[in-house]
Amino acid sequence: KRDAWYQFSERVTGCSSGIGRAIAELVASKPGQRLIATARNPSSLSYLPNNDAILKLALDVTLTTSVEAAFKTAADHFGDNFHIDVVVNNAGYELAGDTEAATEEEMHGQLETNFFGTVRVATNATRVMRQSKDRRGGIIFNISSLAGVAAFPGQSFYHASKFAVEGWSESFARELHPDWNINVCIVEPGGVKTEFEHGSKKYTKTHEAYDGADMPARRLAAWVKKGVAAGAGVPPSAVAEALYLVASRNDK
Ligand code: NDP
Repeated sequence: KRDAWYQFSERVTGCSSGIGRAIAELVASKPGQRLIATARNPSSLSYLPNNDAILKLALDVTLTTSVEAAFKTAADHFGDNFHIDVVVNNAGYELAGDTEAATEEEMHGQLETNFFGTVRVATNATRVMRQSKDRRGGIIFNISSLAGVAAFPGQSFYHASKFAVEGWSESFARELHPDWNINVCIVEPGGVKTEFEHGSKKYTKTHEAYDGADMPARRLAAWVKKGVAAGAGVPPSAVAEALYLVASRNDK
């Protein structure tokens, strides 16, 4: 049985801005909760208070060595009580532009961060979660997107990365033994008001031109666009509140 909220600890990747920052701020505002907040440049985490419950770490999810080092530092910092109850795999960006305009480096970079970064952090986390003797387990939120549900033109590698997150998460969730009590949760936000990076934007067509394209998945694309438009006004704090609610239910 999972311990109470006061022992809740959370790890969030990509906390420098947007959704990750909103989640880190929310967790940090709850008394007695531990937080491991990560960013490529930890100086971007100065908005968080300085205390023993909050560990600010440098983490680049594209580097295995960086991910492993961050987990080791966290384990050393929290000592015998170290456990991770909640992981938020949030770090990500969008490579926007025509498919043929993307370089090898750009297309690999998109998958390295959004997909393999998620895999690296999640698998390091499950190794920690599995060690709990009392089936305490935990929950892993993998931030996908509506772009992981259906695809429209002009960001094919972003879609590929989020579809990969979805397929991998579903398979990995079923791979985890029920006794370990670990849940993997796919999160599919629509539009969220953040500084979300849209990559190179190397378009030979505009998005508007794509809108008129006769594409096989047109109905799905329209559905996604409707979803994104519906969420256009959603602040990152709304995503943070939703995840916090789900995590606290998981805790019971
Ligand atoms: P932001 O650009 O505000 O935040 C992205 C975060 O990811 C930043 O903190 C950035 O940190 C971090 N990051 C990027 N690359 C790396 C890396 N290699 N290693 C570690 N951290 C990295 O965007 P959002 O908050 O909007 O996006 C967060 C997640 O939400 C993404 O996965 C995105 O795909 C998803 N999403 C966003 C939507 C939206 O409308 N905004 C809709 C659907 C999904 P750094 O300071 O180091 O650059």
